Amino acid sequence: MTVMSGIRPTGTGEAHLGHWEGALKSWVKLQEMGACYYSIVDWHALTTEYQDVKNIQGNIRQVLLDMLSVGIDPEKSVVYLQSAVKEIAELSLLLGMMTPLGWLERVPTFKEQQAQLADRDINTFGFLGYPLLMAVDILIMKADTVPVGEDQVFHLELTREVVRRFNGLYGDCFPEPQPYLTPIPKLPGVDGRKMSKSYGNAIYLGDAPALVEGKIRPMVTDVRRKRRSDPGVPTDCPVFALHLAYSKGEEIAMVDAECRRAGIGCIDCKKILIANINAFLEPFRQRRSRYEKMAVADILEPGNRRAAARARETIAQVRGLMNV
Ligand code: SF4
Repeated sequence: MTVMSGIRPTGTGEAHLGHWEGALKSWVKLQEMGACYYSIVDWHALTTEYQDVKNIQGNIRQVLLDMLSVGIDPEKSVVYLQSAVKEIAELSLLLGMMTPLGWLERVPTFKEQQAQLADRDINTFGFLGYPLLMAVDILIMKADTVPVGEDQVFHLELTREVVRRFNGLYGDCFPEPQPYLTPIPKLPGVDGRKMSKSYGNAIYLGDAPALVEGKIRPMVTDVRRKRRSDPGVPTDCPVFALHLAYSKGEEIAMVDAECRRAGIGCIDCKKILIANINAFLEPFRQRRSRYEKMAVADILEPGNRRAAARARETIAQVRGLMNV
């Protein structure tokens, strides 16, 4: 199995538990199952942020630390910077010759993002071409497996169409990649809404223990529990939703039973959760502090070399098939 996935170094800040559940967890799991190519896709960042490039290097560092802190191991997986593999640009140009414009225009996010980012001028060649650039990221590594959220399967469809067209026109070269589905996390933030940076309700992977405690202690709970003696319904409480993700089975069962008969208070219930989330994040914090001392270029250099070697093999084959 050959796996490829990428993260855009845009200014979304540090990754939070929602990112872990929705993507990074699968990445870590997949590195035990096959050869993984994990890319920081800085050219993709330019498709929407070309007017404001000052933070790209800082964002690359942030994204890299997130990846490594969760356990993506640069000795197991190929962790690399997209722009360090120039063959990606060449393959993008070559595949652009045979990719119909209509395929790009009908990618759902094309119109959605144009509407969402109405404050920016993204009526550009680069933005139109970003789904093809994503396809190229996958194809240049000859990946057959791509972790995607359930809501993003259509992204892969364009890649598969490009494969079929290329292989049909010039001969077998690329495998048709299959999605490795990651469930969309139902993880609430500390205000009960979906965990999201924009809501300011997220627990970040690098949060210190005291910060985690400071976020969970004031969390809203089931509204039925106005007094300690009021029984509650755990399934109506965001604290319980986090217990489901980060507490042990017996603790979940205990909270479920005791909440319903007011046998446990919300403060004690939250203390258990705080301890469990902090224990869960501790290895992340330790890895982050270890990698923080290293230069980004030094961490990425071996991965850049391995990715470029793989890309050179693919591009040589493509040049041959396309007779250029
Ligand atoms: S005891 Fe726990 S699960 Fe029940 S309402 Fe309080 S915080 Fe929520």
